[in-house]
Amino acid sequence: MAKIGLEVHVHLLSKSKLFCSSPADYEGKEPNENTCPTCLGLPGSKPVVNKKIVDSAMMVAKALNCQVSPTMFFSRKSYFYPDMPKNFQITQYEIPIATNGHLNIGDMKIRIRRIQIEEDPGKLVHVGGSITNAKYVLVDYNRAGIPLVEIVTEPDFKDVKQVREFLSKLQSILEHLEVYDPAKEASLRVDANISVEGGSRVEVKNITGFASVEKALSYEIVRQENLMRMGQKVAMETRHFDENTRMTVMLRKKETEEDYGYIFEPDLPQFNIFEKAVKAIERQMPELPDARVQRFVKSYKIPEKQAQIIVYTDKALADFFEECVKLFKKPDFVSRWIVTDLLKVLNWNDLTIKKSNLTPKLFTEFLKAMDEGEVTERLGKELIKELVPTGKSVKELMRGKMVPAKIDLENVVKEVVKENKKAVEDYKKGNEKAVQFLIGQVLRKTKASGDPNKIRELIKKLIK
Ligand code: ADP
Ligand code: MG
Repeated sequence: MAKIGLEVHVHLLSKSKLFCSSPADYEGKEPNENTCPTCLGLPGSKPVVNKKIVDSAMMVAKALNCQVSPTMFFSRKSYFYPDMPKNFQITQYEIPIATNGHLNIGDMKIRIRRIQIEEDPGKLVHVGGSITNAKYVLVDYNRAGIPLVEIVTEPDFKDVKQVREFLSKLQSILEHLEVYDPAKEASLRVDANISVEGGSRVEVKNITGFASVEKALSYEIVRQENLMRMGQKVAMETRHFDENTRMTVMLRKKETEEDYGYIFEPDLPQFNIFEKAVKAIERQMPELPDARVQRFVKSYKIPEKQAQIIVYTDKALADFFEECVKLFKKPDFVSRWIVTDLLKVLNWNDLTIKKSNLTPKLFTEFLKAMDEGEVTERLGKELIKELVPTGKSVKELMRGKMVPAKIDLENVVKEVVKENKKAVEDYKKGNEKAVQFLIGQVLRKTKASGDPNKIRELIKKLIK
């Protein structure tokens, strides 16, 4: 069985970098445009901590059920690569901002070992090849000093599916806290540690994108299991996931604690974090995904499983759902179509709701067309494949399509009730299953169009 632990690096949103006033937003900037003596590590420059980042990190800590440390300080970690101009990274080691948390994934509790604040290294550009065979390397320090939180889990994951669910829920939490923007390039990077029974731990560094995390882990589990099967050892090492070959390759033997040579950062003080400050942060916390799921279940009466899918997929989807419900007051209908066909079509097209052309207005017009019988659900399943990527209205999409005649659902229900006296009697005697049978008969006549919940309502009304 595999054991997996994650180190998740998240870019926290802010105007300026972690220890200086250089702008943090480097999108579209020239290489090395966002730099100053501090983030270039020039002699005589001194770091100053960005308070907003400490607040954001506290929010993340509380959202992940961690204990915020009453004191914290920063340390220097020796750094061997040219993307960190100081040759050390300012990070937290001995006392990080928070420890001992957890995040529940279904019935599984994933323990959070620690959360630390640190600066991001710059970006290396490998010219003419990959990290292992490039001709030469360019370095861009725009990213050097960007604020990160690193979230370290215990090795509590047993398979790739749990990792996917964890990352998706974590991302949704970060979005709800408004400390993170998933649309930004490489704003969430994962180091994945994997071991199989009897073997050492291998660390796959710097994986971006959830799909890549899954591929890298799946590959690595099979590689390690094969080694063990052949009676060989799994070496403790650091590997790199190659997006093109979808394989992991050895980068280096794993560093040890001594290699890092941690020392206290003498240019920064020790910080006290008072209980009062933590309480103030807690008061500012917005509604988080778990609470939002419960609210969806309670106020919209949708199944919990559906609410979880909507909220944990991403915040934008949860917002989309609520906008739709404002425009079309049938939450169960909206939710059912989101978790089935809408998500499927988004995945096929490699889209998120934000990146697609679908608006709440378009989507609810589409749902209403089905609810009112203008479009059968079967045709709807075809139309939605076009609706999502194009953002065309239902009317446009219907143009030139064979449109079946509008169905008068009430009439069909009347017919079915008349034709199935026995089932009606059974229902009157309290047999709930009889309704199910009648719904089936209606759906057969309408060629599977019409919302089953609505049909049930009509049947019950008529029989009464
Ligand atoms: P380092 O600082 O060298 O990366 P840590 O002790 O901080 O090492 O652990 C890093 C990660 O390795 C954690 O996410 C932890 O869950 C994971 N890990 C520890 N032991 C194992 C193991 N046997 N198999 C898989 N992952 C592990
Ligand atoms: Mg590590």
